[in-house]
Amino acid sequence: LVRLRARLARSNSSLGKGLLAILGRSDLDQSAWDELEETLLAADVGVGPTTELVDNLRTRLRVEGTTDTTRAREILREELIGLVGPDLDRRLHVTGDDGKPGVVLVVGVNGTGKTTTVGRLARVLVAEDRRVVLGAADTFRAAAADQLQTWGERVGAEIVRGPEGGDPASVGFEAVKAGIETGADVVVVDTAGRLHTKSGLMDELGKVKRVVEKQAPVTEVLLVIDATTGQNGLTQARVFSEVVDVTGIVLTKLDGTAKGGIVIAVQRELGVPVKFVGLGEGADDLAPFDATEFVDALLD
Ligand code: GDP
Repeated sequence: LVRLRARLARSNSSLGKGLLAILGRSDLDQSAWDELEETLLAADVGVGPTTELVDNLRTRLRVEGTTDTTRAREILREELIGLVGPDLDRRLHVTGDDGKPGVVLVVGVNGTGKTTTVGRLARVLVAEDRRVVLGAADTFRAAAADQLQTWGERVGAEIVRGPEGGDPASVGFEAVKAGIETGADVVVVDTAGRLHTKSGLMDELGKVKRVVEKQAPVTEVLLVIDATTGQNGLTQARVFSEVVDVTGIVLTKLDGTAKGGIVIAVQRELGVPVKFVGLGEGADDLAPFDATEFVDALLD
């Protein structure tokens, strides 16, 4: 945890330092507020949340009649935590019905870290003593199934894969079926992320979900977004959320960007919480997301 915190702090330190430096000035004049806004926008926080934060901060300082920098920082911290959402339900829902396994669909564009996320998630679940089956429903890339197989062997999860170029939905179906038959606790399905056409994606993902649900209800749909892709990531998020009911976000590569504000922007965009963040390429670099911890690391 300490290590993860240090990593978050490193990736976000320029944002946090920038904000604190502005608030540390002797007079908070209009140019300071403008700069605060620019700093937040540059960190991908988004226009709506940025305006909200700056307005709230200004109003609260005025109401309290203070220009004290320590107090300003406290209020900034509170407002940031409020924006990130300290009370959102960020648990991973994996409790199935009638003794059936929970089913997690992992969706997202290729290259965002989807397969890595499935592997790491399996690792976390197995460490919690759950029996896990992985479904390699990204049948368009043999490498993706191989990669998942390696993860399965590494963490101790069974893997179900189909022929290359086969029907992704049928792999999802078989994986959940295997999960039910073997009494597994959770089935995690890696899906294809070819954004060739929106309708193609819609057909494919929608079908995977429908077919899987003939076996057991899907308890969680995690959308993987690459934090380094900014606006592009938000556009992708919008497309996916129109195709399937996304229930949680995994924001990968947060270690590779100083624009941690994307956490706030993407939650606003989709109205669903960030549940995990990727903070490196290692097997244990997937961390549950916590609003307070995130903001404290930011302002560290
Ligand atoms: P997929 O095509 O979406 O399944 O993506 P992969 O899981 O194959 O990941 C693509 C690349 O991103 C790989 O090189 C991963 O090691 C890397 N990656 C995934 N998550 C993270 C992360 O949180 N941080 C960093 N730095 N790299 C990551």
